[in-house]
Amino acid sequence: MAFKTDIEIAREASKQPIQEIGAKLGIATEHLLPYGHDKAKVSQDFINSVQDRKNGKLILVTAINPTPAGEGKTTTTVGLGDGLNAIGKKAAICIREASLGPNFGMKGGAAGGGYAQVVPMEDMNLHFTGDFHAITSAHNLLSAMIDNHIYWGNELEIDERRVVWRRVVDMNDRALRDIVTSLGGVANGFPRQTGFDITVASEVMAILCLSKDLADLEKRLGDMIVAYRRDKSPVYCRDIKADGAMTVLLKDAMQPNLVQTLENNPAFVHGGPFANIAHGCNSVIATTTALKLADYVVTEAGFGADLGAEKFMNIKCRKAGLAPDCVVLVATVRAMKMNGGVAKADLGAENVDAVKKGCANLGRHISNVKSFGVPVVVAINHFSGDTEAEVQAVKDYVASQGSEAILSKHWADGSKGSEALARRVAEIADADRSQFAPLYPDDMSLFGKIERIATKIYHAGEVIADKKIRDQLKEWEAQGYGNLPVCMAKTQYSFSTDPNLRGAPEGHTLPIREVRLSAGAGFVVVICGEIMTMPGLPRVPASETIRLNEGGQIEGLF
Ligand code: ADP
Ligand code: MG
Repeated sequence: MAFKTDIEIAREASKQPIQEIGAKLGIATEHLLPYGHDKAKVSQDFINSVQDRKNGKLILVTAINPTPAGEGKTTTTVGLGDGLNAIGKKAAICIREASLGPNFGMKGGAAGGGYAQVVPMEDMNLHFTGDFHAITSAHNLLSAMIDNHIYWGNELEIDERRVVWRRVVDMNDRALRDIVTSLGGVANGFPRQTGFDITVASEVMAILCLSKDLADLEKRLGDMIVAYRRDKSPVYCRDIKADGAMTVLLKDAMQPNLVQTLENNPAFVHGGPFANIAHGCNSVIATTTALKLADYVVTEAGFGADLGAEKFMNIKCRKAGLAPDCVVLVATVRAMKMNGGVAKADLGAENVDAVKKGCANLGRHISNVKSFGVPVVVAINHFSGDTEAEVQAVKDYVASQGSEAILSKHWADGSKGSEALARRVAEIADADRSQFAPLYPDDMSLFGKIERIATKIYHAGEVIADKKIRDQLKEWEAQGYGNLPVCMAKTQYSFSTDPNLRGAPEGHTLPIREVRLSAGAGFVVVICGEIMTMPGLPRVPASETIRLNEGGQIEGLF
């Protein structure tokens, strides 16, 4: 049977005007700032006016370590949101916006898939409401002001070799990774080596996603470290006096975007920080607003639970005072098979033994999530080739771990396929069983926090770091940054730093290559392995086949 593509399904959607979607959450028309007929931002005045309401239940969707087979966290987030609405609950979803770069590289969008999608998916995957362009502009305004400050005499005594603030563009462009600026003579400033990152890797993106309101945003922007002097003392964005104008550029981008699912249920799509050098979740303002308006809010964290859920709990929840009521851990039969040693080309054949063998990875994530005190349920995201025996093998394994796995067919059937999952999730959330606690206290040493994550979540035997790195962490502690959480940047494919080591490895070594201070976002980035902050395009980029057809519709986008 031939399946329709995501974009074909999305095109057939019967969308409701965005005012009707807003009305479902009690947002009056005058508080919606429409972008066309099917997208709107929610006004800050309205957000302020609902602050003393009680919060709905917060449900986090996360997953096993990703495999090339694909897990479907966003698809499951959308499907579960629709499932909850279908069983009569008032539910909203919160997901991230898409970056342009990857859309033109590999196929695969950010709006979910099959009959569990957010629409308008073309807009969401392209310019949307312009938030990322605003972030790019704010980021690059600061870059320009730094070079301009140096040009006009460098009163702050910035060491030109130690400007750490780079430039950003929302494109996969490896040619810009390392560049020399200010060539061409005296009038163009002082040549120096620098480079571009992709917009989603900007600290401005992380800040936008963690700020409570515009005042908080401005303060955090001011706190960013942009350069060092010869005596190694930091120069802040505030010293460059860019924080005010950056906030002006970001004023509209700070407001959450409201759109809808294929089943006309409300979806907030806002912010999109990298899941390695940043925390990988949608904005705090979207999540906290949704919690005031809906009884159930389903949200997603990037990558596998070892990175995504860990950061959601230890960074986002800690900073925003949130506590998840239930975690949904997405697993697929195909990914279990791959974890069990089956090659991608052989995924089509039934292999119950490989499924059983691959379940160890799932088991580790179940116990990790439980260690945060939050109840967990496994969602088996059904693919058409999965056999009953394979699905049963996953269910049996999860039961042996003291949890429950529910088969969900939202990709093929929308909410009809996810009602069972929705019922169970609502029951768990309503039972108030969550006793959420972050994994480490604020006042633990920075190295201690890294060790806690490495041993408890990754099951590493030890953390190794050069004296230089340990000294750097101590220096930041002495400067008052010791109470920050750590943001781990490692491969998403394994609990270890070796992407090929699948399953549930024990006793491996976690080497720290580098540490970076994101003083505005409010975390210390711990880099373990190669981390790419400016991706490249593949040999045959998806952009080669994206075009407008005669009817003016977009072809080739997923
Ligand atoms: P994640 O959020 O985990 O990165 P997505 O939900 O974005 O994953 O899904 C990745 C891709 O896999 C999408 O193109 C989606 O259409 C596809 N997909 C997800 N679930 C299924 C499924 N059950 N059957 C077939 N394809 C699926
Ligand atoms: Mg996703």
